[in-house]
Amino acid sequence: MNNMSNEKMPGRSLERRELLIAAGAALGAAGILASGARAAQKSVAPRTGSELKIIVVGAGAMGGWTALALAEGGADVTLIDAYGPGNLRAASSDQSRLIRTSYENPLYARMALDAYARIMDWQKRWGETLMLPTGEITFSKADRAPEIDQLERTLSIVGIAGVERLSARDLRRRWPQINFDGIDIGLITSGGTGASTLFAERLTRRVAQAFRDTGGQVVLGQALKPVQAGSSVTVALASGEKLSGDFAVYACGAWMAKLFPDVIGRHVRVERRDVFYFGTPPGDARFSYPQFPAWDALGDNFYGFPDFEGGGFKIAPFPDTNSIDPDSDDRRPNDYMVERARAFLRRRFPALGDQPLLNARVCQVAYTKSNDFIIDRHPELEKVWLIGGDSGHAFKHGPAIGHDMARRILTGAGDPAYASAFRMPA
Ligand SMILES: Cc1cc2nc3c(=O)[nH]c(=O)nc-3n(C[C@H](O)[C@H](O)[C@H](O)COP(=O)(O)OP(=O)(O)OC[C@H]3O[C@@H](n4cnc5c(N)ncnc54)[C@H](O)[C@@H]3O)c2cc1C
Repeated sequence: MNNMSNEKMPGRSLERRELLIAAGAALGAAGILASGARAAQKSVAPRTGSELKIIVVGAGAMGGWTALALAEGGADVTLIDAYGPGNLRAASSDQSRLIRTSYENPLYARMALDAYARIMDWQKRWGETLMLPTGEITFSKADRAPEIDQLERTLSIVGIAGVERLSARDLRRRWPQINFDGIDIGLITSGGTGASTLFAERLTRRVAQAFRDTGGQVVLGQALKPVQAGSSVTVALASGEKLSGDFAVYACGAWMAKLFPDVIGRHVRVERRDVFYFGTPPGDARFSYPQFPAWDALGDNFYGFPDFEGGGFKIAPFPDTNSIDPDSDDRRPNDYMVERARAFLRRRFPALGDQPLLNARVCQVAYTKSNDFIIDRHPELEKVWLIGGDSGHAFKHGPAIGHDMARRILTGAGDPAYASAFRMPA
């Protein structure tokens, strides 16, 4: 599992084993699709009127959507973040994150569909577009054909239209701006439920704003470990302030390893990721949305996004096994990674090879061994829920996870498939 990107490989390789059952899951998938669509019609979480007091720590994709769903469900929620929603240390920042159903594990495909429907719904309510139907092109040598086959099969099982398998000749004709030397096959997923781009940082902030609009309170503060006394949980802040509630949810991304070293830390590996934005040539729209999709050079170990409104063509190299302290490390990109990215551009996207580096971001991922998330109660504190082990593919799932977390807390009845898949490892 070393050879993985932040977004593409974890779910895909994880799901390879799941695909063994996928062929037989077609019927179930029809139900999955229907339940995703149904879920979007419902409110974010069932109202209980219970007015439970709940503290959510971490305003990234996991905590933000959870806080919003809980507040929509009628709870009195406080959302605490050490650096604020959409801060540049959080993984739920940066310009873009992909939402895709090209997972091999039907569970993640179903979650992505559910999340997609919820985002569409919220966009309507906000009157704001934070997701674009970029679609995606995946290309590789013939030796990765089994993976492409599996992705294609899953997309068909979950009913994604507009999926095309292309030969090297077709690829060259369709995308003359890419050098496809050594490439044998391509898979195109059209935009929409198949593959779309989320404006990550803006969406994270928008969710926090929606949470405020629902009556929730956002607090800037560094939370310490929770303490449970009887049926009440207290979360102390580093500033000395204390908040108490009926439940606490900790969704602190890579920081979970620092906060809960024995509970979460021992199950995750935190790695650094550098991503780059290179300029496009003047007057040249061939690498920009909508002319260019999100892309994944399977086997080359690079993936990325088109340029949006002059922000640059995004390229993300992997793997990078450097560790990172999410609080104290500088976010200065590593020169050798810039050079790696540029060498790749020269080879695959020659027109971009000598373009200037416009921007760079340094982020982190907390991988579990299986690349499944960890979403479970604290083993010793039954009023405390933990969300961690994002494994580099959790941003898109925020709305689905938040909804399910709210159901589990407010009604005691979450999705059993999620509960089983995301159980705390032994
Ligand atoms: C380069 C890169 C590319 C990626 N691409 C994709 C993609 O295309 N699609 C996708 O779905 N996923 C992608 N991911 C993964 C995705 O970004 C993460 O899985 C997701 O954003 C994690 O969200 P989170 O809420 O768990 O963590 P975070 O977003 O890191 O949020 C944690 C929050 O907790 C706060 N916090 C930490 N400690 C404390 C404390 N003690 N008290 C209070 N607050 C605290 C932090 O300030 C932060 O705001 C990518 C990740 C990286 C790094």
